[in-house]
Amino acid sequence: MFSIKNHKVDINPWESAKKKLEIAAKEIDMDPNTLSYLNKTERSLVVSIPVIMDDGRLVNFEGFRCHHSTIRGPAKGGIRYSSDVTLDEIKALAFLMTMKNALLNLPLGGSKGGVRVDPHKVSKKELERITRRYTAEIINIIGPDIDIPAPDMGTDEQIMAWIFDTYSMQKGRPVPGVVTGKPTEIGGSVGRTGAVGTGMSYIVYEFCKRKDLDLKSMNIAIQGFGKVGKEIGKKLYDYGCNIIGVSDSKGGIYNPNGLEINDLIRFKNHENSVRDFDSNGGMKLNNEELIALECDMLCPCATENQLYSGNAESVNCRIILEGANSPTTSKADEIFESKDIIVIPDILANSGGVIISYFEYIQDIQSYFWDLDRINREMQHVLLDTFDVVYRVSKERNVSLRTAAYMIAGQRLAKAHELRGLFP
Ligand code: GLU
Repeated sequence: MFSIKNHKVDINPWESAKKKLEIAAKEIDMDPNTLSYLNKTERSLVVSIPVIMDDGRLVNFEGFRCHHSTIRGPAKGGIRYSSDVTLDEIKALAFLMTMKNALLNLPLGGSKGGVRVDPHKVSKKELERITRRYTAEIINIIGPDIDIPAPDMGTDEQIMAWIFDTYSMQKGRPVPGVVTGKPTEIGGSVGRTGAVGTGMSYIVYEFCKRKDLDLKSMNIAIQGFGKVGKEIGKKLYDYGCNIIGVSDSKGGIYNPNGLEINDLIRFKNHENSVRDFDSNGGMKLNNEELIALECDMLCPCATENQLYSGNAESVNCRIILEGANSPTTSKADEIFESKDIIVIPDILANSGGVIISYFEYIQDIQSYFWDLDRINREMQHVLLDTFDVVYRVSKERNVSLRTAAYMIAGQRLAKAHELRGLFP
């Protein structure tokens, strides 16, 4: 028995995130004052969320909302519900949103929020009360021109709908632009569900085209089979890839002849673990074994710090496509570089979600909604332009795709910092 655990005991995600910027900052000769500015979160709010549970007990949940930077626009980033979320993890994820939004050249800063709760262990009514009270506690630091939350691990459309409603009730008018990832019936955008997987599929397609790699002959392993893992699994399967291994928090399966991904998704959607799926003569395996599978591409789609100094040497693929945020520590990055494993970094690979969130936000503000064709076309445009510049910088400067992505984002942030200057 194993679990996809967060190796956060020995790795501080916030320190690891800053290390990645430090490497890029050297490459672009970033002013040390700017680096020092970016090494801090603008504001972090820690709140207590008292909630009466269904059995009458009062439980205090802990919640966070961090704005890492608003230098390029209002802060933007998801809200995560998880039983082991910490302030440093939220800070690191907020920082990643700053880098992601700057890389995509969206007029947005970076933020993240979280509540320490396992959403599967509370009732729907309890979840609603937690969400509404959390929203009330952070109400002064969110809003369409301040900070716009969205879904992340453990949160969904329904939770976004409750945030929208709670915020609007307090303001006395509907404010759909306060949150993205809402249901389409109340100001959500078409294409937001599945956006991360769609974006990843555009990126991987383009990457393979440039590298002259045939997607149809690729063997793939996917770690984590939640929203993102399922989405990218389906897209890669439709491209003709051979998905040989998949895992979730309870265990994994392996079949070198390939897994029937649509059946596996149906099976998983019925609250099953992938390890109990009939893999047609395949075998069960654990998380570390899945990570070490010999394959062309490994897709870490679970959570942070899954690929770290303790297991990076065992990774046996040519390409890592990061579906999760920050699945690779800075130490593991060094090991992958030395092994010539190419990492397609999170802030590029999984950025389809925030791109469509941005589209949702502007549609809400304009009260004018686009169709799916336009959404996908415009997303593809943003993603492929971004991919192109990251790929070119990486070639020209002989740096990893991650360092190239951070260099581009870092330059844009430094320019904004220079133009705005420091108050007072
Ligand atoms: N939580 C998602 C991410 O990590 C989306 C954020 C957003 O849509 O604002 O990119």
